[in-house]
Amino acid sequence: MIGRAVLVLLLALLAGCGTTPAPPTTAAPAPAPSPVPRARAGSGAPVVVLDPGHNGGNARAADEIAREVPDGRGGTKPCNTTGTATSGRGTSAGYAEHAFAFDVAQRVTRVLTERGVVVRSTRSDDAGVGPCVDQRAATANDVRAALTVSVHADSAPAADDRGFHVAVADPALAPSQRGPSLDLARALVAGLEGEGFTPSTYRGESGLDPRPDLAGLNLARVPAALVECANMRNPGEAAVLTDPAGRQRYADGIAAGILQTLGR
Ligand code: ZN
Repeated sequence: MIGRAVLVLLLALLAGCGTTPAPPTTAAPAPAPSPVPRARAGSGAPVVVLDPGHNGGNARAADEIAREVPDGRGGTKPCNTTGTATSGRGTSAGYAEHAFAFDVAQRVTRVLTERGVVVRSTRSDDAGVGPCVDQRAATANDVRAALTVSVHADSAPAADDRGFHVAVADPALAPSQRGPSLDLARALVAGLEGEGFTPSTYRGESGLDPRPDLAGLNLARVPAALVECANMRNPGEAAVLTDPAGRQRYADGIAAGILQTLGR
């Protein structure tokens, strides 16, 4: 196992060395994302780390989640946040982002497991506190994951803002954050579009959102992307988010992007 892990890491470094830095937000998504070579290395199943954003206990642990942790660029950020929730009235109001993220990640896990992928999660339930964002990245790094995907939903400035976006660390701090993370992000965009979702009207470009301020992405040393599935404050999107069938569509889109990236 150790020998294969070293080989996998080496392949990942080689994959990143020859690639150019991630282009700015004007980059258009590639129609056919190329697989990450490391995921094919060895005969064992690839390991994917899913990272459902926030946690159900964060709101009652304000001091703990406000603790500053490294942001990966020489500064610090709070350990974690409570996340957002759907707004408005009716049955789709008051659904928490942490619950959405955890449910979608579980659905992604089921799809990937059926396809022979080994899945680890950064948290095992939706009632705890944290973990901090730096620890979430460390989980993926420590198991030398083939890739890691964080699942979130956003609270956009306006209620009519809509659509998903996929963030990657930019400027890149490691080879995995150049070609491999961008390939993963593009595959996630394609996967979500394949489920009928449309790119954000308010962030990024064509569903891609390269940004410097997400500690989990900055600290990852494996291909990493963060999906903001929708604007929870948009009533139409809230109706989809709160519907189990809608969450399954998000999960299927994310799983499709992961499987594309793994070449499976
Ligand atoms: Zn979030």
